[in-house]
Amino acid sequence: MKIAKNMVVTVNYKLSDAQDNLIEDGREPMVYLHGGYENTLPKIEEELDGKEVGYASIIQIEPEDAFGDYDPALVKVEDRSRLPEPLEVGMQFEGMPDGADEEAMIFTVTDIAEDKVVLDGNHPLAGMALRFSLSVAEVRHATEEEIAHEHVHGAHGHHHDDEGDEGEEGDHVAIHPIH
Ligand SMILES: [Zn+2]
Repeated sequence: MKIAKNMVVTVNYKLSDAQDNLIEDGREPMVYLHGGYENTLPKIEEELDGKEVGYASIIQIEPEDAFGDYDPALVKVEDRSRLPEPLEVGMQFEGMPDGADEEAMIFTVTDIAEDKVVLDGNHPLAGMALRFSLSVAEVRHATEEEIAHEHVHGAHGHHHDDEGDEGEEGDHVAIHPIH
């Protein structure tokens, strides 16, 4: 069965940077709905389109096709008093400490000084070329419901807590290779 639009693809993967440093070993396979639903990176779909179970390859994706270039403007220095304690490098916060009208973003604490904290709003993989080692493990037709929801259900897919909310859009989380 060849991978095409509206098929559910299970892919074993490893993610490294361009120097082959392992970023994610993909212990859990990636399961996504193929066909431009933004369940995974478009370059991965492009690579796997028309392929079958057993197909394996390594592709490198440049930052502009992955998580964008690193934007120094997204690095902010905040007063430490505005953030909760205890504080550690690597912690992540949602939204702007300044808050309000800006779109919610994830900020990572990258440095802590006596009374200041550096927050970086770039995606952790921004500015990096990503090397994916891919191996197609399973291909099946999506159900009508999965196509309507634009994501995969079942093992490794999207789980609905309440069957009563079927058909409701909005709280569905796209399945990305990076968490
Ligand atoms: Zn759903």
